[in-house]
Amino acid sequence: MTTVGFIGLGTMGTRMVRNLLKHGFTVRVFDVVPEAVAVLAAAGADAVASVAEAAHGASVVVTMLPDTPDVEAVILGEAGLRAHPPEGRVIVDMSTISPVAVRSMAATLAEAGVALLDAPVSGGPAGAEAGTLTIMVGGETDAFAKAHPVLAAMGTTINHVGPSGAGQTVKLCNQLMVGINIQSVCEALALGRAAGVDLAQMREVLLGGSAASWMLDRLGPQMIAGDVGAGFRIDLQLKDLRLVNELATALAVPLPGLALVTSQYLDAKAHGEGGNGNQALFKVYDRMANRA
Ligand code: NAD
Repeated sequence: MTTVGFIGLGTMGTRMVRNLLKHGFTVRVFDVVPEAVAVLAAAGADAVASVAEAAHGASVVVTMLPDTPDVEAVILGEAGLRAHPPEGRVIVDMSTISPVAVRSMAATLAEAGVALLDAPVSGGPAGAEAGTLTIMVGGETDAFAKAHPVLAAMGTTINHVGPSGAGQTVKLCNQLMVGINIQSVCEALALGRAAGVDLAQMREVLLGGSAASWMLDRLGPQMIAGDVGAGFRIDLQLKDLRLVNELATALAVPLPGLALVTSQYLDAKAHGEGGNGNQALFKVYDRMANRA
């Protein structure tokens, strides 16, 4: 039985830990929110009270945190993983964060003989729950091999896509498409609604043709019903679009679609909707069409 440390027990982390437990791993769980730790302790995880304790005796530590500064604090902070690395000397960050920050942390940790993999995921809470996440991994090949059994308990499509930071780069391309795909579904639904067609039927029809998409399939029903419930929050979508913009700017790549859709998610946030799911971009279209 292998011991895994897991830090960050939010929407995604909680579901991923449950799959590690199902696969027979001993999981030492930590979050700054004690209730999140307690819920998983009741499900069979070992509750601990610090980052260092989560790493204690672990072959691998996984982090699943909101943003770059959170991961930097947990890894580089005084009581963090650099000072208290896991026994197996592999850290797997599965959050979506800056590829530049990942490379810098990986270099710092390498000096201490600790490997850092960037292994962001796609598939949302449903994929996390089913253990079918797509996982894109950057970093050293040896560390990838060591971490693979742990990743395989949480995902089904697991690819080593290159050196440190490459996983985050692929994930940011994914998030750019996610943001714009939602916008395209919003626009089609806004037009269909104004024309008076049955939107549920329209969705069914479009899923059988060349406009079919994951967004139309999984988020379309929520959009049609006006359901703003969060799987992936608008605040996190904006964080990812910010990271895409940083990368595009550094590489001098013009992305006009990114600029437009970022403004629309900012419109949602300005209306106090940052905590809604990202499908709630449809509310921006409701306002523009005077349907709010
Ligand atoms: P979340 O906000 O629900 O969970 C993050 C957890 O980290 C929270 O429980 C929080 O208390 C904890 N945390 C924050 N700082 C901490 C610290 N210093 N020490 C310990 N715990 C700390 O976020 P989420 O939706 O689970 O997403 C996590 C990451 O995965 C993000 O980077 C997100 O962009 C990415 N992601 C999310 C989804 C999704 O659909 N929700 C899908 C793919 C990727």
